[in-house]
Amino acid sequence: MASTGSGVRTLHHFIDGKHVAGESGRFGEVYDPSTGQVTAKVPFASTQETRRAIESAARAFPGWAATPPAQRARVMFRFRDLLDAHKSELARIVSAEHGKTLEDAAGSVQRGAEVVEFACGIPQLLKGEFNEQVASSIDSYNMRQPLGVCAGITPFNFPAMVPMWMFPVALACGNTFILKPSEKDPSCGLRLAELLIEAGLPPGVLNVVNGDKEAVDTLLSDPGVAAVSFVGSTPIAEYVYRTATANGKRVQALGGAKNHLVVMPDADMAQVTDALMGSAYGSAGERCMAVSVAVAVGDQTADTLIGRLKPRIESLKIGAYDEDGVEMGPLVTRQHLDKVRAYVDAGVSEGAELVVDGRGHAVAGRNDGFFLGGCLFDRVTPEMSIYKEEIFGPVLSVVRAKDYEAALGLVNDHEFGNGAAIFTRDGDAARDFTSRCQIGMVGVNVPIPVPTAYHSFGGWKRSLFGDHHMHGPEGVRFFTRLKTITARWPSGIRAGADFVIPQLR
Ligand code: NAD
Repeated sequence: MASTGSGVRTLHHFIDGKHVAGESGRFGEVYDPSTGQVTAKVPFASTQETRRAIESAARAFPGWAATPPAQRARVMFRFRDLLDAHKSELARIVSAEHGKTLEDAAGSVQRGAEVVEFACGIPQLLKGEFNEQVASSIDSYNMRQPLGVCAGITPFNFPAMVPMWMFPVALACGNTFILKPSEKDPSCGLRLAELLIEAGLPPGVLNVVNGDKEAVDTLLSDPGVAAVSFVGSTPIAEYVYRTATANGKRVQALGGAKNHLVVMPDADMAQVTDALMGSAYGSAGERCMAVSVAVAVGDQTADTLIGRLKPRIESLKIGAYDEDGVEMGPLVTRQHLDKVRAYVDAGVSEGAELVVDGRGHAVAGRNDGFFLGGCLFDRVTPEMSIYKEEIFGPVLSVVRAKDYEAALGLVNDHEFGNGAAIFTRDGDAARDFTSRCQIGMVGVNVPIPVPTAYHSFGGWKRSLFGDHHMHGPEGVRFFTRLKTITARWPSGIRAGADFVIPQLR
C-alpha cells in the first residue's frame, strides 16, 4: 500500500500473493470515525480486475484441493499463531477504521481466531463414512470434496471476525477464496491475507478484491465462482442470494436483525441492566447480535428497567477507540450517523417517549467525529419505524408487553429472526421460549448468544437467505459437497447383467 504526501494511504488489492494497485480509477474514502478525517483511499475493482482475482484462485485450486487436509491444517495452525502474535496490531487496524474500542476489536479478532482453531481440526471434520458389505462384495463410502473458487462478501461491522467466519473453513476444506471486504474498513482483510502468506498459504489460494457493486456483481455472475458467502444488510443479502443462485451458485447470505430481549418480572434486574448496557451500546450498537428491543413483561418490570437504565446510559463513557476507559466509540461514517439520528427523530415524531436523548452529545476535542450519545425510548409500539426497522446504532427501544405470550408474539411476528434472549429465573418460561421462538440463535440469561466456533452461526426468517449457517459443522457442509461411492472388490466376481434396480442380495 502506498502513502500520499497528505498522509492518506492508497490501499491495493491482494492477488496472487501480492499487493496489486487498483486500475479502475475509482476509489472510496476510508475514515477515522473518531476524527472524521479521511485516512485512506480504497480502490474499487473493475469487472476485469475482479476476473483476474477469480482466474488466480481458479489456477491455485487444483494444487490446493489436492494438498492433504493435514497439511492444510498446518497452515491454519501457523495462521492461528500469527493471529495471536499480531492481535494488538489487528485490533488497532479494526478500531482505526471502524471506531470500536481496542478491547472490543481485540475480542472480535479472538472470536475469528477461534474459527481458525476449529479449521485446524479439518482432517477429523472431513472424515467420511464407510460401510462394508452393503451388498455381496460391495462396500459403500462417502467423502466431502471442495467446491472450487468461493467468494466472501463482508460488512463493515466486523472486518476481522466475519471474514474469518468464512475463509478459514473454506480454505481448510480445500477451496480457494476471494474476499471482498467492506469498502468502509478494508485494511484488516488485506493484513489477514499477508499473514496467511506468512503462514505458508500458496499464492492465489486467498485473494482480496476491494470494491463496490461492480466487484460484487462480477463475483455473483462469473461462472468461475462456485459459491458465495455473504454477510450484510437484508436488502443486499436478498439481492446476493437471488442473483447468485440464479447463476447456479451455492449461497449463504446473512442479513440484518432486530434482536429482542424479553425481561420477565422474576428476572434479576441488576443482571438484565448490565446485559442491556453491553449488548445495546457496545460497539455503538453496530452488531448484528446487538439487542435493540427490550420487551418488559408488565408495567412494573418496565418502570424498574427504565429507572435502572437511564442513569447508566447518561453516564456512558463515549470517546475515541484508544482513550482509556471508553465504553462506546463513534458510528462508522457521517452518513450512518445521520441515518441513526434520523431514526431517533422519527421515533419522537411517531410518539415514542425519548427517555435519554443522545443527539446532542459532544466529545471534547472531537467535533468532527461521528459520535452519538446513547438513546433510550420507552413505550415503543410495533407499528413504529424504530421498532420495525434495523437502526444499527446506540438506540434501545423498550416495548411493554402485558404478559409472556404477548412478548413471545412480538418476537415471532418480527420480520427478522437473528437472535433473541429471555431473562428469567423460571425454567418453564425459559424452556417454552427456546422451543417456540422463531429465531436462529437464542439466549437464556445470555444477552448476545453468539455461537462458539464449533457450533454454527445464523438466523431465521429474513436474517438468512439460504440453507446453511456459518462455521462449525454447517460451515463444513456449505464449503464441501458430498460424494458417495459404491465399490465391488475383488474385481474377479461376475455379477451378470441385472435389469432390475440394484437390491440387497
Ligand atoms: P451492507 O449490506 O451495506 O454491505 C455489505 C457488503 O455488501 C459490503 O461488502 C458492500 O460493499 C456490499 N454491498 C453494499 N451495497 C451493495 C449493492 N448494492 N450491491 C452489491 N454489493 C453491495 O452492510 P453493512 O452496512 O456493511 O453492514 C451492516 C449490516 O450487516 C447490518 O444490517 C447488520 O445487521 C448486517 N450484519 C449481519 C450479520 C449476521 O450475521 N446476520 C453479521 C454482521 C452484520
